[in-house]
Amino acid sequence: MAANPAPDVRVGAVEAGGTKFRCALVRGDGDVLADGRIPTTEPAETLARVVGFFAEAQRRHGAAQAFGIGSFGPLDLAPGSPTYGRLLRTPKAGWAGVDLRQLLQERFGRPVAIDTDVNAAALAEAERGAGRGLRSLAYVTVGTGIGGGVVREGRTLRGAMHPEMGHILVRRDPRDTAFAGTCPFHGDCLEGLASGPAIQARWGAPLDALGAPVDALEIIGGYLAQLVVSIALLTACERIVIGGGVMTQAALWPRIRTATRRLVNGYLPMLRDEASLADYLVPPALGERSGIMGAALLAERLL
Ligand code: ZN
Repeated sequence: MAANPAPDVRVGAVEAGGTKFRCALVRGDGDVLADGRIPTTEPAETLARVVGFFAEAQRRHGAAQAFGIGSFGPLDLAPGSPTYGRLLRTPKAGWAGVDLRQLLQERFGRPVAIDTDVNAAALAEAERGAGRGLRSLAYVTVGTGIGGGVVREGRTLRGAMHPEMGHILVRRDPRDTAFAGTCPFHGDCLEGLASGPAIQARWGAPLDALGAPVDALEIIGGYLAQLVVSIALLTACERIVIGGGVMTQAALWPRIRTATRRLVNGYLPMLRDEASLADYLVPPALGERSGIMGAALLAERLL
């Protein structure tokens, strides 16, 4: 998986998601020694199973020298914070304050790195996937929620906390003014309008089950284009990778490109025409592995 010159190195990787936790014990030469998926239930049960997975995997394959976590958020990533690494106020019941990083550190006595799931995925795509040869890249997921991470010069973007791109405010489509939006914090922020649950709440079905009515695709494509334009304007990154369940609807991609071009109106060279847009907006090269690979990369960097 993750190429590393030292094959005797082992790292533990966790992709912590709202519906499942993916765990892997990875050898430095790229071999995945053990791979597991644990449904996300209440924290004590879920975390006990994560610890159990690594205890068993290490017993069979040797101890990990470090761990890396790519987690759903929001997370406290402020340097020096006494609650560094903990989940902040999340709508996911019972999970606020949970500290997976400290738990793994105490249980296994090894250093543990943590970042957001999308920053981890951005790191993997930047180093091993769609961003190879570039110095900057953004990774966006559009699914149960909307999130984005940024990598620049090999480092993920974080500061007071981490990017929260899903909650940017967008201009409403005139055909979509009746729907209040689903975000519990903001109503009609981007996630409240264009995530999988927002599509379901508004039209009663996911995009691909709607028979792809043009309006729905254009409305969602238009909102996602506003995110694309905002990322390009704010970060000047060289490529944007867009993944997540909603993006498997192939007809959405040309709508995003068309709306992006219209919004930019020739101002940004990398978003000017169809050819440059096709190069700028791409699906994940690593498919569904970018998150777990990114978590392994976070761990390797501790060594
Ligand atoms: Zn929001």
